[in-house]
Amino acid sequence: MVAEKTEPLLRVRGLCKYFPIRSKGFFKKVVAQVKAVDDLNFDLMPGETLGIVGESGSGKTTAARTILRALKPTAGSVDIRLNGREISLSSLSERELRPLRPHMQMIFQDPFSSLNPRMTVGDIVGEPLVIHKIAKGDELRERVEEMLMKVGMKPEHRQRYPHAFSGGQRQRIGIARALIMNPELVVADEAVSALDVSVQAQVINLLQDLQEELKLTYIFVAHDLSVVKHICDRVAVMYAGKIVELAPTRELFEDPKHPYTRALLSAVPSPDPDDAINFDVGGEVADPGNLPTGCSFHPRCEDCFEPCNQRTPSLEECEPGRFVSCHLYEDSGMEGRGEA
Ligand code: SF4
Repeated sequence: MVAEKTEPLLRVRGLCKYFPIRSKGFFKKVVAQVKAVDDLNFDLMPGETLGIVGESGSGKTTAARTILRALKPTAGSVDIRLNGREISLSSLSERELRPLRPHMQMIFQDPFSSLNPRMTVGDIVGEPLVIHKIAKGDELRERVEEMLMKVGMKPEHRQRYPHAFSGGQRQRIGIARALIMNPELVVADEAVSALDVSVQAQVINLLQDLQEELKLTYIFVAHDLSVVKHICDRVAVMYAGKIVELAPTRELFEDPKHPYTRALLSAVPSPDPDDAINFDVGGEVADPGNLPTGCSFHPRCEDCFEPCNQRTPSLEECEPGRFVSCHLYEDSGMEGRGEA
């Protein structure tokens, strides 16, 4: 569901995150860069859910963490619109970022390791309110119990420890902790990947209900395309650190443009749940520290033709609202470069 507002909540422009590869020896000179995220451009509207998908190593998690400034970008900008004011996240210091952190929260993949086993559920969920000096005493307890009920837990669960709960319940606790600060933007990083399929559906339904109730905007990072299909308004497909296709979810699934998107879709579903982690697209995933020349996908691409190993394609709007980075669509491009 996309809210009827014209200004984006998030504006990402030219976002890059490179990790240096250094030589051995005393000087440890930088000899190459791992381009984990390279030139990301998109807008995220309030109330929207954007999926970011790709194989392991595609850069999707690094992209999400760089957007939230858990990692400092190498280049580019991320602007967030809060209370009618646009704030440049990418240019702020850690100290300046601190008061903005409550507005941007993350739900992690592994509910088993993301919750401190020595803390009660009440302390885990209420900790952000304590750290930011927002509530204490009875008010803290009431807010924690209210949040637990919102995520389908019972108020008395506050006094128990994470080990007493199932995987699905632990993920609900993680969601409660992320949402207790009333964030605008929530990044769910493989938030349901570790759960059984039936529990996945319950947690996804919960996230959708909470989105409507609390007016949340989501970035949903996932390798599982069936999950993305269910929850996302638009999907960005990443390969070797770049967005290679960005489109409304239905259009992407019904008419995938990029050869990599087509390969991903044909690799789903897999009868073996373990296979879902890595798609059988064929060939080797590109090494972001040593990318092929031209289009990074060309050694694996069935449609590869003459310019592909020479020139790098750029993300262009090939139809209204649809962006693709592939030489196959260069002549069909719309005039000028739209912002994704
Ligand atoms: Fe394939 Fe060429 Fe398109 Fe790359 S640019 S995806 S190699 S057709």
